[in-house]
Amino acid sequence: MAKNFRNTGEKYYQVIVIGAGMAGITAAYFLAKAGIEVLLLERGPYPGSKSISGGAVYSLPTRELLPDFWEEAPFERVLVDQQYWLMAERSAVKLGFTSLEMDNEPYNRLSIMRAVFDRWYAEKAVSAGAELLNSCKAEDLICENGRVSGVRASGSRQGDIRAGMVILAQGANPILAERAGLIKKTGASDMSLYVKEIIAFPEEVINERFNLTGNRGAVIGLLGEATAGLPGTGSIYTFKEHVGINVGVGVKTLTCKKLKISELIATLKGHPMVEPLLRGGTTVEYLAHMIPEGGFNAMPPLVFDGMVITGDSGGLVNGTHGINLAMYSGKFAADTALEAINRRDYSRRVLRGYRKKLEKSFILKDMRANREVPGLFQKNPTLFADYIGLVNSVSTHLSMVYPVSSRVKRKFIRHVVLNKQPLGKLLTDALKAVRVFR
Ligand SMILES: Cc1cc2nc3c(=O)[nH]c(=O)nc-3n(C[C@H](O)[C@H](O)[C@H](O)COP(=O)(O)OP(=O)(O)OC[C@H]3O[C@@H](n4cnc5c(N)ncnc54)[C@H](O)[C@@H]3O)c2cc1C
Repeated sequence: MAKNFRNTGEKYYQVIVIGAGMAGITAAYFLAKAGIEVLLLERGPYPGSKSISGGAVYSLPTRELLPDFWEEAPFERVLVDQQYWLMAERSAVKLGFTSLEMDNEPYNRLSIMRAVFDRWYAEKAVSAGAELLNSCKAEDLICENGRVSGVRASGSRQGDIRAGMVILAQGANPILAERAGLIKKTGASDMSLYVKEIIAFPEEVINERFNLTGNRGAVIGLLGEATAGLPGTGSIYTFKEHVGINVGVGVKTLTCKKLKISELIATLKGHPMVEPLLRGGTTVEYLAHMIPEGGFNAMPPLVFDGMVITGDSGGLVNGTHGINLAMYSGKFAADTALEAINRRDYSRRVLRGYRKKLEKSFILKDMRANREVPGLFQKNPTLFADYIGLVNSVSTHLSMVYPVSSRVKRKFIRHVVLNKQPLGKLLTDALKAVRVFR
């Protein structure tokens, strides 16, 4: 409970955090642990209720923030099997790696259901002293005297709530900062729309279909035909008694192609390699969600007088991975807020320390290194389709046993390759990829 009261009788917090997702809960947890009066607002009935269920946390970076978290955190399976499927219509080149080294603490990746994990994490923040308001939506930022000084709330608490500073952690759609004129709306070419389905199965069926034992889990990255050859990705995750399948494509591509994401996931579920994994299950959840995938070049400004932006709201996503980036940004926001509180100065001058912490960490180093990746696919939208199709054709012909000599077969395969991708284009594309991924 906030102890500070202004003359007006209005409750006054040192920090308000908007959004109880990975970034917001982390910020609130570390602030509360340091004895700060922090209010955490969540528009959903409980943390995780509005988040897309399922995904993976990476345990090595997470344990830097939450030592040995796996001992108390509600995770589903230890992901020891990682596959990538390069999919054509009736075939798939499957690349995989299974390591039982990852089955031991500290693990590598753990699958989690967000509705369960976020609730546990938020309870941890509350136990540390944070005040959590569920079913409370921040409608607008309060901007006074040139700085952000609070939020206008609706729902379980209504009206103006003021604070020393605000940490914005509202996920992929940072509409509050846009509405306040602080940042521009993310362009359609930098935003992807994902749809995810969670399908229930008995545990033993999952183990049998994915060749797993105990609480070991698998994740399959799906490329190529999974997205109808459009730039985007899909994946299949195993949970204890559920399998999650998702697929996502850029919003601009979906609009240009007049495609519905619901059609893409329906087609993917019917793919001859995917259908047997999902046969007979019961869909228990179906949700669409955005991921800001524009990378470093598309990030909005993150620091303002009286406010910092964290997690997906700040475009802090590397490829499709955002959970750890969100957590770290929440921690850095909390550390910066502590500095501001100690100096009694919430100006941009002090809060700039947040950006500096991000710059020094693996987060912005990685995002900066990968800054040209989103552009590569935006400028070459058929890159996935072209090469994954080619790899499947070549693999088909390599596997077929024709009644010809090996020399004739090699010549034929060379002809297939050059017919699909002339040598000049192959070399130019290889060069582009090397430049981007160097
Ligand atoms: C299909 C899919 C699969 C993914 N899989 C993975 C994965 O396996 N690994 C990985 O690292 N990342 C994954 N991600 C990305 C990851 O989910 C995000 O990067 C991460 O959740 C971002 O955390 P966040 O705290 O910034 O936002 P969120 O976790 O989205 O939290 C934002 C919170 O703010 C609340 N909120 C929003 N507006 C308001 C408001 N006005 N007032 C009050 N509350 C508000 C929301 O209800 C929500 O609880 C996936 C994303 C999708 C869509």
